[in-house]
Formats: sequence, structure tokens, C-alpha cells
Amino acid sequence: MNSVCLHCQIPLSEKEHEFICPQCQRHYLKQPCCPVCYQALEVLKACGAVDYFCPQHGLQSRTTVVPRAGAEKPGNETQMKRDE
Ligand SMILES: [Zn+2]
Ligand SMILES: [Zn+2]
Repeated sequence: MNSVCLHCQIPLSEKEHEFICPQCQRHYLKQPCCPVCYQALEVLKACGAVDYFCPQHGLQSRTTVVPRAGAEKPGNETQMKRDE
């Protein structure tokens, strides 16, 4: 169940907080997913603790959630553009 780049269709490399495509260097958000159905989990934050919830399989412990690539992060070049 490896996540692949939407543009290159090759497996992404997993970093601590994100996924990066080794070919085009695009960054993808890390999305916690259910280990059973691989759906994106709802993140519940309460009292400093974080829980993950699957509508079909209930609460998931953060040790068993499967990280998959979510939305593509905006590239650096858009931030560096100046209005001139
Ligand atoms: Zn790519
Ligand atoms: Zn599930």
C-alpha cells in the first residue's frame, strides 16, 4: 500500500512529517489512514492527546495508523514569487 506521486506514478519516500517524490521533488502531506480500510482518519484532539477515528472501524491507536500521502503541498517557488 505504498503511496505514489500523482504526477510520476512512482513510490514516494517517507519523511518524518511528509512524503517526497524522489523524481519531481513534490511534497505531500502525511495523512493518517485506517490500517483496515485505508480511508483517511478523522483526527480527534482532546486533553493534549490525539486520537484517530474511522467511521467504519472506530478509534485507532496512533501506533497502528498507516501514514499515506494526502494533499500535495504548495511548492516553494510560489512563495518566493514577488509582486513586481
Ligand atoms: Zn513526482
Ligand atoms: Zn477503517
